[in-house]
Amino acid sequence: MSRAKAYAAITAKAPVGPFSFERREPRDHDVAIDIQYCGICHSDIHQARDEWGGSIFPMVPGHEIVGVVRSVGAKVSRFKVGDRAGVGVLVDSCHTCAQCRQGLEQYCTGGQVPTYNGREHDGTPTMGGYSDKIVVHEDFVLRMPANLPPDAAAPLLCAGVTLYSPLMHWKAGPGKRVGIVGLGGLGHMGVKLAHAMGAEVTVLSHSLAKADDGRRMGADHFHATSDEATFTRLEGYFDLLINTVSADMDWNKYLNLLKVDGTMVLVGIPEKQVPVGALPLVFRRRSLAGSAIGSLKETQEMLDFCGKHNIVCDIELTPIQKINECWERILKSDVRYRFVIDMASL
Ligand code: NAP
Ligand code: ZN
Repeated sequence: MSRAKAYAAITAKAPVGPFSFERREPRDHDVAIDIQYCGICHSDIHQARDEWGGSIFPMVPGHEIVGVVRSVGAKVSRFKVGDRAGVGVLVDSCHTCAQCRQGLEQYCTGGQVPTYNGREHDGTPTMGGYSDKIVVHEDFVLRMPANLPPDAAAPLLCAGVTLYSPLMHWKAGPGKRVGIVGLGGLGHMGVKLAHAMGAEVTVLSHSLAKADDGRRMGADHFHATSDEATFTRLEGYFDLLINTVSADMDWNKYLNLLKVDGTMVLVGIPEKQVPVGALPLVFRRRSLAGSAIGSLKETQEMLDFCGKHNIVCDIELTPIQKINECWERILKSDVRYRFVIDMASL
């Protein structure tokens, strides 16, 4: 065992503060990583505040992790000491359920192990990337493209793949009109990725404040959802809408923006249930769908795609001591566009 320094939420009500705990010694197939950077995902806040229920405390959040391999277990073949390595939202799965056998670990039903706020198969609570080190089975460690700066690439491990996966699954590309709802951490990755895939990209943001940024990222069009005229102007326009918002909103209004056979994919996760009417779906054969992160294979594919197209996140680097302030700013939609913790500050 080795002692890890970290920041943790001790209860759902407490601010995040300094903490320490034991990481396991690397087993045969484990990679031990010194963490350099960790992105701050909105999910960190939802879970640390127990907004989805069932949170495990104390909680060390963080699932957008980039670092350098410090040591490897005897049987590790894919990584060596000194390699740059990434860890995303999962650190293990059951390996035997129908989804795992198809390479869809993100939908594992037999015992998925999230990077934090979960339990290893032996019951040990998992602790995430707001810490100085992590030990992970090599199958759940990603290779980071050498040409991408490691701090700005860290959020690709959750925000990047969470948009890449539905864009690929619903075939965003030339001739497709893709709308990204909410230009935050996830949304801005959606704009960059969909643009690189060749789709026509529209941002639906609550105001026009981020319009210049959106265009710089590759958006062809930018509309404010505070302007009701947006919903009449764009009725029946989109092939695919990806909704990253977790605040209260009327999904029915957005469903009306889809063409016949269009799909709105939810990736944002509101705390409350949202009522959906049959009408906007039935009379245009539209679909409402959801999507969770991506598989390990897809995550690697997304990283390689970003390496090839030189895509990284727009980040604000922060010392870990400012974590509570960062969270408040995320809640106010006041981040351009992802906070990343510089772990040297720990
Ligand atoms: P974020 O950076 O906070 O972005 C959310 C965006 O929602 C904001 O930037 C804002 O964009 C928009 N928004 C609309 N109404 C808002 C309001 N009233 N208050 C604040 N923002 C509002 O969050 P994120 O990290 O991208 O995560 C978004 C959601 O996805 C969260 O619920 C998170 O838990 C979830 N998530 C899901 C997955 C998955 O696998 N499905 C993975 C990671 C995260 P505008 O200013 O442009 O309107
Ligand atoms: Zn996340």
